[in-house]
Amino acid sequence: MNTLPPALIRSLQHAKGFDEETFRAVHEQGGQITSVRRNPGKTFNVQHSIFNSSLEAVPWSSNGYYLPGRPSFTSDPLFHAGAYYVQEASSMFLEEALKQAVDLTQPLRVLDLCAAPGGKSTLLQSVLARDSLLVSNEVIKTRVTILAENISKWGTVNVVVTNNDPKDFQRLENYFDLVVVDAPCSGSGLFRKDPAAIAEWSENNVALCAQRQQRILADIMPALKEGGILIYSTCSYSPEEDEEIADWLLEEFKVESVKLNVKEAWGIIETVSAKYNSPGYRFYPGRVQGEGFFIAAFRKAGNSPGVQRQKVKTKKDTEGVTKKELDVIRPFLAEADGFFFFRQHEQVIAMPRGMEDDLKLLQASLYIKKAGIRTGAVIRDELVPEHEFAVSTIISHTVKRFEVDTETALKYLRREEIKIDTGDKGWALICFGHLPLGWIKLLGNRINNYYPANWRILNR
Ligand code: SAM
Repeated sequence: MNTLPPALIRSLQHAKGFDEETFRAVHEQGGQITSVRRNPGKTFNVQHSIFNSSLEAVPWSSNGYYLPGRPSFTSDPLFHAGAYYVQEASSMFLEEALKQAVDLTQPLRVLDLCAAPGGKSTLLQSVLARDSLLVSNEVIKTRVTILAENISKWGTVNVVVTNNDPKDFQRLENYFDLVVVDAPCSGSGLFRKDPAAIAEWSENNVALCAQRQQRILADIMPALKEGGILIYSTCSYSPEEDEEIADWLLEEFKVESVKLNVKEAWGIIETVSAKYNSPGYRFYPGRVQGEGFFIAAFRKAGNSPGVQRQKVKTKKDTEGVTKKELDVIRPFLAEADGFFFFRQHEQVIAMPRGMEDDLKLLQASLYIKKAGIRTGAVIRDELVPEHEFAVSTIISHTVKRFEVDTETALKYLRREEIKIDTGDKGWALICFGHLPLGWIKLLGNRINNYYPANWRILNR
């Protein structure tokens, strides 16, 4: 274990809840906690899964569980089917913050600004009302791919993945009801999990991170509706990135802090900022079963209704889809009526009905990596289906499917040849624990494996 930076320890001496001895001890012991969050949008057979035995629940999460050890997630077909997300337990507190600060029964426009690899976005997808719209954004291009992949696996349709700089959202003034900023930070909260990160920590970097956090927040505030909620979080212990950012926000913007209730048994420490007594919530390993984390909620002043749905000129890549194409696609859909369809090149994409204008507005303002669910392309009256349709929550249960054992599932996920005893022809789903893993095409005497080449498992 690398030595904890003395400057970090010094800066925490006055932080509420900080106990140097316990802090040093948990880092020296280096114990590892593994937690996962189940996908409530997917029902599966738990018999051959990590959920087979009774697991300890993460106290502030309705779908989070601690695992007794760290299994090989790569060798678990259900991981690839989007049955759960491996997420650090403290950060699952976002659910509790949302429950207390936001009316989750309402359809909301939500932005997860710093979203890759998708932990907060998949959590948001599980707690937002069905007709809410989530914009899941990541500025770094190379990280958007994994974000889009994790969103696809989670399977929900009411999400748009974007690749934009925070300042680009100024084109969407007064638009979002909820903005989550899980800010890039100096990362001290993850020292126990990743001791190598200790060597990279410096006071200078904390200062740079704080400046960047201010810039990100200043850029995004105009896009938050009056009366809307901002959730700010970091995995840093440094007050400069936590309480001092809260003070800066209160000084610079018309916002008020939102106090959250935490149960004493949870071990979470409520702190207040030095200048404006703004409440924030600190997670210290040793006090909570999780890593270092900070979260705070704010409400933007005012109550103007925000952006109303408005007509934006249709862009070229959203041309109509023919009735004939829809007749081919509909039998694959769990609910045929809940969607509108648009085209991107030959692909037909489904999004929830009622989000047409929002999509057009987002298309006019942002770079969209992915929107809704790509169902596939209709070629010669046949759907050539997309992988993300197979693992989505909108795929019909009537699509032909074959349940396979672990060995066959892993072969399939490695994109190897698999054998299934059937003389049928056409598209079908390979399932494990009743959850689709992806498509195969039955050709009578053999089977083509359509698992995406770039998602396949590489190790054996
Ligand atoms: N919310 C994610 C999750 O739960 O899986 C983790 C987000 S991570 C703490 C911070 C993210 O902010 C990273 O994906 C990083 O690429 C992104 N980021 C880095 N610089 C940024 C900037 N200047 N503006 C916005 N986001 C930035």
